[in-house]
Amino acid sequence: MTSRTPLIAGNWKMNLDHLQAVATVQKLHWTLKDAGHENGSVEVAVFPPFTDIRSVQTLIDADKIPFGLGAQDLSAHDSGAYTGEISGAFLSKLGVGSVIIGHSERREYHQESDELVNAKVKAALKHGLVPVICVGETAEDLERFGSSAVPVGQLEKALEGVQASADIVVAYEPVWAIGSGQAATPAQAQEVCAALRAVIARVLDDEAAARTRILYGGSVKSGNIASFMREPDVDGALVGGASLVVDEFAAIVRFQK
Ligand code: PEP
Repeated sequence: MTSRTPLIAGNWKMNLDHLQAVATVQKLHWTLKDAGHENGSVEVAVFPPFTDIRSVQTLIDADKIPFGLGAQDLSAHDSGAYTGEISGAFLSKLGVGSVIIGHSERREYHQESDELVNAKVKAALKHGLVPVICVGETAEDLERFGSSAVPVGQLEKALEGVQASADIVVAYEPVWAIGSGQAATPAQAQEVCAALRAVIARVLDDEAAARTRILYGGSVKSGNIASFMREPDVDGALVGGASLVVDEFAAIVRFQK
């Protein structure tokens, strides 16, 4: 079996300006160091707002901080008359390594369709960024179709036309669990993550399914992370609210199975 390095990713959403971002990354780095956290055992990545990226990248580079740097969205276009949009080419040039695509807040508040998500996944890959593809069912979907059908359909569409060799991350985030304090059970997360891995095997190939990390997201805290990480198809977490509290996020990174 391929071993997958766990990934703990902090989605800051529209929180922390560039000064707060720098202070937060510094504090997280020192908190993990003081706790004797071993770099490499778990990959850590932060996804700040666009306006913070340059400052965080400068700090990470200067202090050799072993965190990945991601963006929360990108444009499906490379450049041109798209006011307010951010090209993957610009993100790459800034040292960004990955980008969240299809977060439920983008799908809900910006009407992002599965087609747009697919175009953004392709744009990310074209510019050398790892797309962190978010999928998940609403409470209504859960009642009508069960937990797997909607995320499976979303992932199938997101991966259309993507090459099997592509470096991607998938995040299963039940919409009803995001910011609600009511996380899925580890068994629910495992069931859907296994179904998503089967999609990757079918649409890409078995090797891609074996190597791709699938994260769980939705009210992850230091108190429940270990129970998710014990599940064979859960390779990490996409953390929203708790990623803004340094001690809590550090405790999530330092989970013990
Ligand atoms: C998220 O928005 O990606 C998320 C998982 O949020 P929270 O951890 O706050 O539920």
